[in-house]
Amino acid sequence: MKQKLFWTIDIGGTKVLLLLIDSNGKVLFRQKIKTPKPSKPQAVVDTIVETIQAETEQKKLGFKAELAGLGICTAGFVDHQEGLVHQSPNLEWHEPVPLGNYFKQRVNCPVVIENDTNAAVVGEVLYGAACGHKDVIYVTLSTGIGGGLFLNGCLYRGADGFAGEIGHTKAFGRGRPCKCGNTDCLETWASGSALARSAGEIWDEKEQKGDHITTAWVFEQADKGNTLAQAIIDHAAATIGLGLSNLVTLFNPTCLVIGGGVAANRTDFLKQITETIRNKSIKPAVEITSLTIIPAALEPEAGIWGMYSLLTGQAK
Ligand SMILES: [Zn+2]
Repeated sequence: MKQKLFWTIDIGGTKVLLLLIDSNGKVLFRQKIKTPKPSKPQAVVDTIVETIQAETEQKKLGFKAELAGLGICTAGFVDHQEGLVHQSPNLEWHEPVPLGNYFKQRVNCPVVIENDTNAAVVGEVLYGAACGHKDVIYVTLSTGIGGGLFLNGCLYRGADGFAGEIGHTKAFGRGRPCKCGNTDCLETWASGSALARSAGEIWDEKEQKGDHITTAWVFEQADKGNTLAQAIIDHAAATIGLGLSNLVTLFNPTCLVIGGGVAANRTDFLKQITETIRNKSIKPAVEITSLTIIPAALEPEAGIWGMYSLLTGQAK
């Protein structure tokens, strides 16, 4: 019998991650390529298909193995049933893209499309930080803020696949616009780019050009004892903590996984967020329920392992 192989792909705004994994979970190929610029859908599909075909030919995979599935995750509003990406601000796709069909025309195997943070929560549950948990909230603190819900043992997508968009729940603010078209979304006040933006608005432009301020710079200044930078970070941590405490109160999870570059290796920042979650959630959800709040374990491949789980039927 031929060995079953699965291609799992995460399309990001700057890079595309491709892994070829066999049915035992062994990684046979792993590559990171640049997302074509401009990131027109057809160019992205072509680049991925060419990489897959080159690898298949080089390894002569066709003789001893069969391609059993192709799974793609990407940021944006994804209808997994239709394989449709309604909108992906990171890829600058503002019109619906039938990504599933584009791939189905090019490969001879089942194709699954999913939102990247939906895939990530599945990955963290099956292979990562939330192993063994049935009720999990995943949040990624990055340029934006993304989220995924795994409830009662299943990925929770909502009616059309748009559930879990934690970054676009609303925070108290002063009308700061968001990429989604609305204002005062959580990510406009508490993401990595929001931190830099808040600092840019405050700092004297002569001293430090506002548009060159980065998230890392804000954390650096705070570490050096700058109270203004620290206040920006405190505000972001409190805002995220509040947003997540609402989710804990709503869904009563046993595990909350925090991923993304903004929180990674920043113990104090994570501690601030964790404390707010514990203080602001309803008491039973943190006192009777044993709630674990932990950093993600699979980055940057959480979405990849989620797609693998979905393709192999370990998760639905
Ligand atoms: Zn928004």
